[in-house]
Amino acid sequence: DTTIDDSVFAQNESEVRSYCRNWPTVFGRARGSWITDTEGREYLDFFAGAGALNYGHNHPVLKEALLEYISADGITHGLDMATVAKGQFLETFHDKILAPRDLDYKVQFPGPTGTNAVESALKLARKVTGRESIVSFTNAFHGMTLGSLSVTGNSMKRAGAGIPLVHATPMPFDNYLDGTVEDFSWFERVLEDSGSGLNTPAAVIVETVQGEGGVNVARAEWLRGLAELCKRRDILLIVDDVQMGCGRTGEFFSFEEAGIKPDIVTMSKSISGYGLPMALVLIRRDLDVWAPGEHNGTFRGNNPAFITATKAINEFWSDDQLTRDVHRKGRQIDEVFSTLSERHEGLSTRGRGMVRGLVFDEPTLAAKACARAFGSGLLAETSGPSDEVVKLLPPLTISTEELDRGLGILVDSVEEVIA
Ligand code: PMP
Repeated sequence: DTTIDDSVFAQNESEVRSYCRNWPTVFGRARGSWITDTEGREYLDFFAGAGALNYGHNHPVLKEALLEYISADGITHGLDMATVAKGQFLETFHDKILAPRDLDYKVQFPGPTGTNAVESALKLARKVTGRESIVSFTNAFHGMTLGSLSVTGNSMKRAGAGIPLVHATPMPFDNYLDGTVEDFSWFERVLEDSGSGLNTPAAVIVETVQGEGGVNVARAEWLRGLAELCKRRDILLIVDDVQMGCGRTGEFFSFEEAGIKPDIVTMSKSISGYGLPMALVLIRRDLDVWAPGEHNGTFRGNNPAFITATKAINEFWSDDQLTRDVHRKGRQIDEVFSTLSERHEGLSTRGRGMVRGLVFDEPTLAAKACARAFGSGLLAETSGPSDEVVKLLPPLTISTEELDRGLGILVDSVEEVIA
């Protein structure tokens, strides 16, 4: 049966449900850059599973690998036993991703989602250094569990959570207040102020581009400055690449452009390549001080996800074609958004690679534009502290024509709501 009465959701599912309120329909199937509802309406998907589908829905090569694995009674659960699927992933990740980039990390499987990776990174940083506090940035997003939430700079999301587990000090992100906070003098002052109570933190956690925070792009020099400060003061640098990793900004790791080497990296979302739950923590080899069993969890090594993740690396990261495509399509989006911003006061644009934001001076218009776009067959979401940014995360594999078509829908929607 491919249909369902949509009242079943309101009657049975918690009030916490959210995306389905913006997209009031029931989805059935999806392929490539398209998702279809049970009425047969097709939508171009510029949200791509919140960034979990960089290679689109049901990519045929990945699907074939998965079907083959299931047909052969491959192991489907997720305990951290040694399996062939896991071994192949580790080998491929090392040979095709880490080694060519001269990166030397051990890989930890912390649990199924991004927030599990962040929790684990925070715990490890505290264990390694014997210190407690963590520095995070204004408008950062690191997850919805208590530890990751305590380093998330979004008061609405924190409101229901009570006391944070980690003493986190927010610092201005790059270009905060339109660039009036230019350097790290703030940071140095707080570190040196014995009254701040911060002492030396265990780690700094940072996104190179804040996705949920409104597509705020850190400059490469700013990231290098941060890495240098951390090194000089013996503070661990955690890059949260959950949303910006796996090619979203062009390179496999979003920090490659800045030429920095974080001590710890968190990944999830698109790492399985197929929208399957999977997360990684990359740990500088000498920092891997975990004792066996110290960070456990039932669903840590999702074997079907290893199969598609390995296939995705072989398929998309054996050459630099995807990187070039992402930069080209990113420019395509930027041109459309720049033209739109020049034509209308109260609009501006920012982004890197294929994460692009259209920023509205009047926040409510961003949601209205997305609602209008949904009516015309496009999924796009807002982000930013006031939901003032339309954030685009189309599949990296989208065709130029599909991208054009989706951008056309969005432009028409924006012009309609600001008219
Ligand atoms: N870190 C970042 C940068 C994210 O964007 C997200 C998810 N939006 C998370 C962590 C949390 O990931 P998950 O939702 O899988 O727990």
